[in-house]
Order: sequence, then structure tokens, then C-alpha cells
Amino acid sequence: MMYITKRMIEIRNLLSRVGQSSSVTLPSIVVIGSQSSGKSSVLEAIVGHEFLPKGSNMITRRPIELTLVNDLQAKQDYGEFPDLGLARVTDFSLIQKTLTELNQSVPESQCVSDDPIRLTIHSPRVPDLSLIDLPGYIQVAGENQPRELKRKISELCDKYIRGPNIILAISAADTDLANSTALQASRRVDPRGERTIGVITKMDLVDPEKGAAILGDKQYPLRLGYVGVISKMPVQTGGLFRRESSNLLASINKNERAFFSSHPEEFGPNSGAATGTITLRKKLMHVLEQQMSSKLTETTDAITRELEETTYQFKVQYNEQAMSAESYLAASLDDFKHQFHNFANTFGRQQLLELLKDALDQKVLDQLAARYWNKPIEDLFIAPVEPDSLADLPRADPKSPYWHRQLDTACSGLTRLGVGRVAATVASNAVQANIDKLLDKSSFSKHPSARQVISEAAATVLADRAYATSDGIEISLKPYKFDPDIQPNEWEKGREHVVGVLQGELEQCQNALKGLENSVGGRKKLREVMSFVDKARKGEIIIEGDHPSGAGGFSAALLARGREAVFLRDRADIINMRIVASKSRKCKSLENKYYCPEIFLDAVATKLAQTAVLFLNVEMLNDFYHRFPREVETKLNEYMNSHGGNGLEKFAREDPKIRRHLDLVQRKELLELVLMKIQDLHRFDAAGNVKADRD
Ligand code: GDP
Repeated sequence: MMYITKRMIEIRNLLSRVGQSSSVTLPSIVVIGSQSSGKSSVLEAIVGHEFLPKGSNMITRRPIELTLVNDLQAKQDYGEFPDLGLARVTDFSLIQKTLTELNQSVPESQCVSDDPIRLTIHSPRVPDLSLIDLPGYIQVAGENQPRELKRKISELCDKYIRGPNIILAISAADTDLANSTALQASRRVDPRGERTIGVITKMDLVDPEKGAAILGDKQYPLRLGYVGVISKMPVQTGGLFRRESSNLLASINKNERAFFSSHPEEFGPNSGAATGTITLRKKLMHVLEQQMSSKLTETTDAITRELEETTYQFKVQYNEQAMSAESYLAASLDDFKHQFHNFANTFGRQQLLELLKDALDQKVLDQLAARYWNKPIEDLFIAPVEPDSLADLPRADPKSPYWHRQLDTACSGLTRLGVGRVAATVASNAVQANIDKLLDKSSFSKHPSARQVISEAAATVLADRAYATSDGIEISLKPYKFDPDIQPNEWEKGREHVVGVLQGELEQCQNALKGLENSVGGRKKLREVMSFVDKARKGEIIIEGDHPSGAGGFSAALLARGREAVFLRDRADIINMRIVASKSRKCKSLENKYYCPEIFLDAVATKLAQTAVLFLNVEMLNDFYHRFPREVETKLNEYMNSHGGNGLEKFAREDPKIRRHLDLVQRKELLELVLMKIQDLHRFDAAGNVKADRD
């Protein structure tokens, strides 16, 4: 049992998650070779499955870190891509497809990427090995390949062939060893040939004597020697080579034995030549194990140092405060809920009433503008005789059916405008805006997707109740549609309130006028063009046609502004008069409602708002306060469970501060785990098992 290799490979994989620093590196076997040297075939023979990307245009663009796990429990061989969350893939053609896609995801302009693809293969028939398949060296860049491809592949390989890794240098028997790019590269970093294993493929393609001479190691001696293999069978049937069994390695082994044993002199037991994929596998296991155990003490020291440093950082930077993605989410959610409860305690009926009344004030102004303020001012008022008598100005005759109709229409325009819908919309918008504001102040502001999930949860709960609420409100408002029944005290309140509304509107008119003044270059200029528009309106100046280029020395754009200014000035005059009227003695009494439609409509609007709010509060707001926190939990849960179950971790890491904290905590935990495992190995070693195991 290769106990130590298995454990060391586990440790190596754990370390790669720590964000391996060069001081803590465990050796792996790095496979290099020129394109078409037979590199893929060798790897597939070792694994016993065809799983590597194929095709003449297929250039490996990313290293594949391949971990083979001797798994006696596995009923079927399977592969896993831990970084993709892809587990137990038993179909090796799917593994091949996935590798091809991952490979193709590197843009051609980038040539190659040093971001490795991690793949683990479990099988009772593979040894415990850690292999890294690198892009094949290319001799001449192809027509459509970027020129720097060759250099970039070479640089990538250089990164991996450093010590303590073992180099598996693949060369084909039918090409001159002097030209083997793999051996050349290996000699650069391992000049004494101490950690390079030579693999000579395609032994079937050369004379046995020549093959044996290559394996004889004279030309380029390697301490770990050469192994000759025939890992791919030509597709001929009936001859020497045949693929009989579904087990790739078994048939390769059979064919290799058939070939090598038919040349006993060159490859027989006394020849000293190492041949066959099985021999190669054994050699790999043995060499890797030796290399790993020779690094045991060094690695332990490096990890201990690394752990000390991490523990120190944890203390200094975070005061040893624990952190996990779960605890971060829980704290964020608690905090948000707390803020939400504060909001719920301060946002109720009164706040809704104010908002709805504001919205209805606008509707009242719309009705007034449409029914009363659209006439020239002279129609509505008699010219004042003396300023104090302004209050007696309205000449709306209370007996005239015209003024009755005016007020009735304006009033029903208000009661029938769909107050239910307005109320539901106002409440929804206000609640939604407040939730969004709370989110902006919460830690979810650093997590746009999760923030959106919560915001949408609010929208869903609100939308759920909107229709029924607005319907209910309409029903409750029905009596007012026929008889608003305003009481004297309501009239008095309306009178107080509407003056403020009119003043607000007046201010807006004046601000708009100011804006126009600024946009045309001053008050004087605006006055000139307004006076021109006034004269034209009274017929004192005749403007013929449309005059796209303007008139009276004013451009068309200036004239348009002038007209707008005249409209605003007239509107301001009317509103001014209505403020005076509303404050007047005459408007003190409900009896004079035809003189003071503003007050009447305001009183009606207040009544509508008060009734609507009773319903809104219960049907929408309270329901929301009850359901929203639950909906948030459900939706966040769904979100966190997405991304192949990785959502929670991904969420927490979106905040750079949390990510750094998490990284440190996880690094510390991983290093502790690694150290524990390595200490186990030491105990195993001390018990003399490693040596026994090796033998
Ligand atoms: P890679 O580009 O280095 O990965 O090489 P491949 O494994 O794809 O092999 C290149 C070509 O050599 C393919 O056509 C293989 O069928 C062939 N090949 C590989 N190994 C052998 C071998 O041992 N004997 C023979 N005759 N052909 C081989």
C-alpha cells in the first residue's frame, strides 16, 4: 500500500488550496514532450482511459493537474473536477468533452494560461499519483497560431519543471533524441539528470537494436533511467497489435509484451532495458514516493513556519475573531432585520396618510387646472375695486347650474380616479424605496446580487397584495363617490391645508420662471419676448404662418420659451388670486363651496386618504411587515444554494474585507489540518512503516 504517497498527495491538494507559496511545495510528476511525441497516449495508458482532448487543431492551453486515487471502494472508475463542482463523472467521454471546453475557454490571443484544470480520477486500478500534463512543445508555430505561442508554451513548462517536481520527459523513438525538446528542457533545469525519467514512445516504429540503444542510456544518461513503451496501437487488425479488451491498459500491456518478448535479445530480462507501461507506472509510484518522503521534514518545517506567520497575522489583524461565510451572512441578515424592525416601528398609518394626501393634492391641482384655471382670468374674477375687497371677488353664482356642474365634475373626477390604485402604488413605492435605502446602508450594499434578491422579495410581497388592497379601498370609498358629505370642521382643515398646497404650486411656477430666465440669458430678455408673445396674443401684432425661424427678431426657440413663460406667469397670477380667495372671509363657510372649489376638493381628498389608509395599513403594510422577513430568508436561501451550492461562499467573498478575513481564517484552518496530517505521517514513519511500505 502506497500509504505515504496517498497521504502526501492529499496534503499536496490541500496545500494548493492554501494558495501554495513556494516554500510549501510537494513534488508532483510533470509531463512534458513535443506535440505528437505520444504524450497523451502515455498518460491515457497510465490512467487506463481515453480522456484527453484530441484533434489535429487541439492545442493544450492549460495545465491539467491530474490526481490519481487508488480507490478500492470505487465500483466504477470516475473523474471529478473539484473546481467545477463536477463530481463522480463515470463517462470518460464527458471528461474529455469538459477538458476540451475548459481548454477552449482560453482566448487564442492569450495563447496559454497557467491556471490549472484540476481533475481527480478514482479507480481501483490506478496507482496514487499526482501528474501535471503540460501543453506539448511545438516546433514551428502553425499558420493560424500566434507567433509567441511557442515561447509561451516553453515559459509555462519552465515554471512547472522546477524542483522538487519530477520530470517525465517524453520523446518518440522514431525521432533523434538529440532533437528532443523535452530532454533539452529537462537538461536545463536538471543538468545531472537526477529527477528526470525518460519515456521513449513508439518503440514499435524503430528497429529493436536502435530502440534498445536508446533505452541503454548512453547518449543522455538519466539517474532514473529510460522506459520504452508502445502506448498506442495502430488501427490494424489481425496483426501483432490488437485492442481486445475494454480495459485500455490491459490491452496495451498485452501488445507491449507481445512486441518486447518477441525481441528477447534486445529487451529480455538480461538486456537491462526497462520496457512497458506497467513498468513505467511502477517506476512513477516508486520515484514519487521517494521524492515525497525525502521532502517530509522540509515540508513540515515550511508548513510550521507558514502556520506561525498566519496565526500571528490572525491575532494582529483580526484579534482572533472567528469568521465564516455562514456567520457573516447571519450577522448581515440580523443587522438588516434589526434595521427593518426600526423602520416598521416608525412607518405606519400616519406616514402613509401623509404620503397619500400628497399624491391626492396633486390630483386636486390637476382637477383645478382642468376645470377652473383654464379660462382667461377675467372670466373667473371681477377686476378688484379696492385691494381689501379681493375676498368678494368670485362671481361664481351659487344658484347657477354651471358652477354646480363644475364642482360636481371636479369632485367625481377626484373620487373616481382610482384612489385604490393610487394608494396601493404610493404605499408600495414608499415601502420599496425605504427597503432599498435600508439595503444601501446595510452590508448587502456590497453584494449587488443578494441585494437584488432582497429588494425583489420586497417587490413580490408588495405586488402580491396590491390588487386586493386597491380593490378593497375602492369598495370602501364607494359612498363618497355619490356624496362626499363634508362637515364644517373638515372644511376648516381643508382651508388651512389648501393654502399651503397652492403656495407650493406657486413656488414651483416661480422657480420654473426663474429657470426660463436663466436659460434665455436674463430677466430683461425674457420680459421682451414675453411682451412680444402677449401682444401677438392680443392681436396687436400679426404673425403670419409658422415662422420656423422665429419672428419679431426672436428665434423660434426663444419664442417657445416666451410662450411657456407667459403661461407660467398667468398660472402664477391665478394661483395668487386663489390663495387670497381661499384665505378670504367668504371662503370661511362651507355654504360658499362654489366660490372655493380648492377647499372643497381638498376636504374630499383628505376624506378619501383617511379611509384608504385604514385599509392600506391592515391589508398591505401589516401584511408586508409580517411576510417580508420570511420571504427574505426563503429567497436568500435559494440564492445561496445556487451556483452548485457555492453561493454562500461566493456571496461572502464579494466584500474584499470579508474575503481577506475569510482567506486568513481558511488558510489557518487548512494549515492546521495539513500539519496534523503530516504529523500523523511522521508517527507512521517513526513506527518504521514508511520503510516497510517502500519495500
Ligand atoms: P501527443 O501530441 O504528444 O499527445 O501525442 P499523441 O498521444 O496524440 O500521439 C501522436 C500520434 O502518435 C498519434 O497518432 C498516436 O496514435 C501515435 N502514437 C502514440 N504512441 C504511439 C506508439 O507507441 N506507437 C505508434 N505506432 N504510434 C503511437
